[in-house]
Amino acid sequence: VAEGFLARWFGGLRKAPPSVEETRAELDRLAADRPAFRAPVLWLRELLPDLGSPPNLCVPVLSPDLARHKLLDGLPLLRGEPLKVDARDFVRRWRCACDALERIQPDGAAGPLAEAVRCGRLSPEEMIGAVLAGRPEAVRARAEELGLLPDLATTLLRYSLFPTFTVLDAALAPLRRGTVWVPGYCPTCGGAPLLGEFRGLEQSRWLRCGLCAASWEAARQWCPFCDNRDHQTLGFLHREGEEGRCKAATCDVCRGYVKMLSTLSAPAPLALLAADAATLHLDLAAAERGYFH
Ligand SMILES: [Zn+2]
Ligand SMILES: [Zn+2]
Repeated sequence: VAEGFLARWFGGLRKAPPSVEETRAELDRLAADRPAFRAPVLWLRELLPDLGSPPNLCVPVLSPDLARHKLLDGLPLLRGEPLKVDARDFVRRWRCACDALERIQPDGAAGPLAEAVRCGRLSPEEMIGAVLAGRPEAVRARAEELGLLPDLATTLLRYSLFPTFTVLDAALAPLRRGTVWVPGYCPTCGGAPLLGEFRGLEQSRWLRCGLCAASWEAARQWCPFCDNRDHQTLGFLHREGEEGRCKAATCDVCRGYVKMLSTLSAPAPLALLAADAATLHLDLAAAERGYFH
């Protein structure tokens, strides 16, 4: 099913990105056929309409010159820029995501995270500030300090910021054209790669940010987390028969991994989240072998 899903969406050139309805239908099929991943897939399905509706937003204005200098210095475009994220909108999205997860998987995991943001112990401004300052790991650390689930906290942060950050990347992406970006984090917001693509007939490698969906070209044989380029410690994990479509690129130096899809053209932001859900079996396989994201 995941193979069919990936083939339909990424194996052929689509004229338009799949609609929210199409994406929901695909996620329904995926949830039915992959009971082990039913909860995270249905959770994303529930959130799709909200993820596709951006808030009102002022995009920071950067001159092409400043943008070029930042990128050459390895600084994401949003680093240090005045950015007013609508905190009420963020809190609403966070709460809706927690409520949706609680409905689908009533195990009490989301409640404490909803409460932590509601009462201000987990502050949207601090979390967004940490991401933009290049310290996304501070969000995990803060969640752990509060006794909350750190993986769930970072997923909630992604779902809460995604509508805002994808608009920012779409507006700022033209400033990145023609410049080379070397670091392993996102050139727009500094987030970590959620997925990668071997794209097009030439199979060039592109990484995609999990927060803003930015797309940037990267070396084919390279670990974005620790800069390792040694083919002896870089490898792939894949499921039998699936290697032509999706696999996890692993690094034995830092034990990091990035899931890689074969695509013909860049998936739209919502399709990127759906592809992440359709390849959760690779995350599981990677975790079982001691790799982490
Ligand atoms: Zn980004
Ligand atoms: Zn590495």
